[in-house]
Amino acid sequence: MTQEQTPTPLVELHGVARRYQVGPATVTALDSVDLRIDEGEFVVVLGPSGSGKTTLLNVIGALDTPSEGRIIVGGQDISSASRGQLFDFRRRTVSFIFQSFNLFPGLTARENVEFGIDASGRRERSEAVKMLQDVGLGDRINHFPHQLSGGEQQRVAVARALATDNPVLLADEPTGELDFRTGTQILELLRAEAGPGHAVLVVTHNREISRIADRVIELSSGRIVSDGPPPGGPAPISELHW
Ligand code: ADP
Ligand code: MG
Repeated sequence: MTQEQTPTPLVELHGVARRYQVGPATVTALDSVDLRIDEGEFVVVLGPSGSGKTTLLNVIGALDTPSEGRIIVGGQDISSASRGQLFDFRRRTVSFIFQSFNLFPGLTARENVEFGIDASGRRERSEAVKMLQDVGLGDRINHFPHQLSGGEQQRVAVARALATDNPVLLADEPTGELDFRTGTQILELLRAEAGPGHAVLVVTHNREISRIADRVIELSSGRIVSDGPPPGGPAPISELHW
């Protein structure tokens, strides 16, 4: 008899809600969210603008605090963590890729990637150049962000996130500002990162992108309305059009 290996949960949300008070009104960005993501999964979170996608990533990455519920990431309960523990968590457990890149403008491509390496401490600084070569930017290592195109900046952001080698990679509309060719290159890199000890969550409003996921979680008005593989199973990236 073969022993089934139980996958390790990397992200768990139990009854998570996030509400904002805006004047007299309460806005519910997330409501009663229960979710488990295991190592190896490449998950796309799909939903229209305002459905709570960014809020979901932010609470998983401890950039925002839920109003209710419990969140466990990389085995650590971040809902009850101290500031010091969260500081460490943000450096060594999660990595973010933002729609608007968020590179350090005063640092070169190489220094931006070295920053990620320094934060997590899992790689040698000397690996930064190799990480940039892997995203096709071997000839741009000494460029500052303003000297790079949008697609190139996003590839630096991807290299910086991958360079941390952290277990949970969170990407918020990472192809939103990119042309099709650059966007699919970035998706290829993100999908390759999901594997043993690593899970990847990509947030998008673009249903086409969700076709390549192992698993698609649909959000509507802050609630999960469906969760499962895309119809027909994950499609190869070469089949995407947008
Ligand atoms: P998405 O990323 O899917 O577009 P968001 O997570 O950014 O959605 O937002 C979900 C909902 O929460 C939206 O209705 C938005 O207006 C609201 N919201 C987000 N951030 C705030 C905030 N800081 N204050 C008040 N409302 C907010
Ligand atoms: Mg958003």
